[in-house]
Amino acid sequence: MSSRPPQTLDPAILRTRLDRARGAAADAGTDALLIAPGSDLRYLIGEAGGSFERLTTLVLPAGGGVPALVVPKLEAPGYAHVPMGELGIEVVTWVDGDDPYRIVAGRLGKPGRVAVSDNTIALHVLAFRAALGDAEQTLAGPVVRELRMRKDAAEIDALRRAGVAIDRVHARMGEWLRPGRTEAEVGADIAAAIVEEGHAHADFVIVGSGPNGASPHHDVSGRVIEPGDVVVIDIGGPLPEGYNSDSTRTYAVGEPRDADVAGTYEVLRRAQRAAVGAVRPGVTAQDVDAAARRVIAEAGFGEYFIHRTGHGIGLDVHEEPYIVGGNDLTLEPGMAFSVEPGIYLPDRWGARIEDIVVVTADGVEALNNRPHELVVLES
Ligand code: ZN
Ligand code: ZN
Ligand code: ZN
Repeated sequence: MSSRPPQTLDPAILRTRLDRARGAAADAGTDALLIAPGSDLRYLIGEAGGSFERLTTLVLPAGGGVPALVVPKLEAPGYAHVPMGELGIEVVTWVDGDDPYRIVAGRLGKPGRVAVSDNTIALHVLAFRAALGDAEQTLAGPVVRELRMRKDAAEIDALRRAGVAIDRVHARMGEWLRPGRTEAEVGADIAAAIVEEGHAHADFVIVGSGPNGASPHHDVSGRVIEPGDVVVIDIGGPLPEGYNSDSTRTYAVGEPRDADVAGTYEVLRRAQRAAVGAVRPGVTAQDVDAAARRVIAEAGFGEYFIHRTGHGIGLDVHEEPYIVGGNDLTLEPGMAFSVEPGIYLPDRWGARIEDIVVVTADGVEALNNRPHELVVLES
């Protein structure tokens, strides 16, 4: 089970999501969605549950059938706070020795096509294949993301509060980031502050000092921070209601050692601003990526910007829409994603600036509002 405290969402909101998911499944030519524990389940019923070798799945027929949560009897109490009756969901428990896949098959009749959530473990996928005979299996992700990437006002408000909370952590960085301390020591203090400032837990803490900053998904290490280091700090986690923060700022511990830091960082700052400035309804995800990439490439650093410009965010830290070349998805109000270009100079240093933004009716709202300049801390 999830360690988070149960949050009671308005049943009317969940009912609407379930109805829309069923409609989207029908439009996609799928007879049923089989939703595993995780963020899709949390989005639809307000509880993420947990995924183990025993099958738990929400069986959501596209047509008229009654939805069911098929769940091991010993794990059913974890769903006690979900208003199953109001949501029209039947709870079907099973015990060790039963065949839960046959229970699912029995509710579906002879489906032509079922969609399993993207995070369903192979153990269950292959067992569904055996139990459901000739049914074609597809991914439920493309169906559910049509709902999840268009966020309602309450979801945007949760992301806004997550942004304010992580901004408060960045504002305190001078308390922890000092020469003579290891990345791991600084990271532990940051993780504690992420919780102090209102998150349920710290999901990730990247402290990339000096050459480690050139590795975008560096974690923390035993490296001792030195005077003059440039340090990439990328941090985030979920609020108790499940919506995530994710923000990066780049710091210098005293005046940077390398003489080219200021000029290179300024290129990055202009790139990040250009990409945020490109966000509005009607532009495509790849337009936003191109806006950042153009500035960096024109300054001669194109080969050092080695990842996409951003990712959607919500109940997952990384979700649709991805802000990447080749994604011609048209942005709409309510879509929320990161804008996080970086420049990574191998064996030397790296820099990244990351804000979460949301598409508004006529433009963009930034949910992170710490200064974008290189933050030079006293050393
Ligand atoms: Zn990342
Ligand atoms: Zn990040
Ligand atoms: Zn990110």
